[in-house]
Amino acid sequence: MNTKSQELFERARQVIPGGVNSPVRACKSVGCDPLFVARAKGSRLWSVDGQELIDFVMSWGPLLLGHCDPEVTAAVHRAADLGSSFGAPCEGEVGLAEAVRAALPSMDMVRMVSSGTEATMSALRLARAYTSRDQMVKFHGCYHGHADSFLASAGSGLLTLSIPGTPGVPADTVKDTLLADYNDLTNVEALFKEKGQGIACVIVEPVAGNMGLVLPKKGFLKGLRDLCTQYGALLIFDEVITGFRLGLSGAQGKYGIVPDLTTLGKIIGGGLPVGAYGGRREIMQRIAPSGDVYQAGTLSGNPLAMAAGIATLSKLATLDYAALEARTLAFATEMKAVLEGKGLPVSLTHIASMFTLFFTETPVKDFATAKTTNADLYSTFYAGMRKNGVNLAPSAYECAFTSFAHSDADLDQTLEAARKVAF
Ligand SMILES: *Cc1c(COP(=O)(O)O)cnc(C)c1O
Repeated sequence: MNTKSQELFERARQVIPGGVNSPVRACKSVGCDPLFVARAKGSRLWSVDGQELIDFVMSWGPLLLGHCDPEVTAAVHRAADLGSSFGAPCEGEVGLAEAVRAALPSMDMVRMVSSGTEATMSALRLARAYTSRDQMVKFHGCYHGHADSFLASAGSGLLTLSIPGTPGVPADTVKDTLLADYNDLTNVEALFKEKGQGIACVIVEPVAGNMGLVLPKKGFLKGLRDLCTQYGALLIFDEVITGFRLGLSGAQGKYGIVPDLTTLGKIIGGGLPVGAYGGRREIMQRIAPSGDVYQAGTLSGNPLAMAAGIATLSKLATLDYAALEARTLAFATEMKAVLEGKGLPVSLTHIASMFTLFFTETPVKDFATAKTTNADLYSTFYAGMRKNGVNLAPSAYECAFTSFAHSDADLDQTLEAARKVAF
């Protein structure tokens, strides 16, 4: 007998490519079918078949307050009653921009968009316009959304020769995308030595969250800052995950580095579609209509999304990040011990409310070591945890996210579920 999830997936596959609107949701890489979700509250979600799961995906990061936070939900309801979209400025846009600037002083000015992808794509255009240069340095294993220029892979031969990472991206579009290794400053230095006068920007996830969690080596971010300054390139911190997750001031606050531009998304929308980019006033003023760099959006600064963002940021400002970080570390460390108790090799990375358990003996410090994780073991772990009522990311190369809604009882129950998984 088919479950309702399976029936929906079958229907979805007739009308939606692969049955999903974002590829990783299909759970292909862990060999499962997706769970269709009916509702969610706090740390938990319920499938359309009524299964209750403790969630560590949290919509891939946005829900630091947990699902369906009462204050955020009330703010969205209030906004919806006043109109869902005006195509004209509204007060919420000003409020959210002010809240962002108050938390992240490097962002003198902020432009709202509707996704992280739009934020990075627009920041890149702005950096190119501002520097009158075309090239960009990005790092293997870092993800900056699905705009063409970012979807580059390493070509054969020269490390610096990029090829499209997907069909549909012209080779010409990624010829200006220079790839470097995360945490390898020598590599970036060499690129600047060779092409420094043509490099508009370096874009980096200051804490990498899209190859599993990989922390920046001591001196790496500072080194990028110095190289950018020396060569007149802009440093873009893609804080779409880390913004408001590592703390109110993001990775830039935590590591004390001032980027020229910052991109945000995920948490600042409180679960609604929001992205933002911002930075130094003189750079941001190049954006139309105060400047000549075109960027626009029908639903940008949407009043519902602004209300959700403002409610989220105001509540976060009252919460204890350090306590959540300590609880998350204790939990992840215990989870590692449970898995090691089963004779499995585990390498744990952790910061704030995010962590990754890599199934490898190799300490994970960069993309190459992240790739040593045993994806088959992860698939077994994923399926076993899902059966036992825990929703993990359906890929071995992702972070797990805790939230302020995860109670000690939730974490204990998750460890109990892990003890029962047979490998
Ligand atoms: C999720 C993510 C993006 C893309 O954001 P979307 O809202 O999915 O377009 C960009 N950068 C980073 C670091 C991300 O994690």
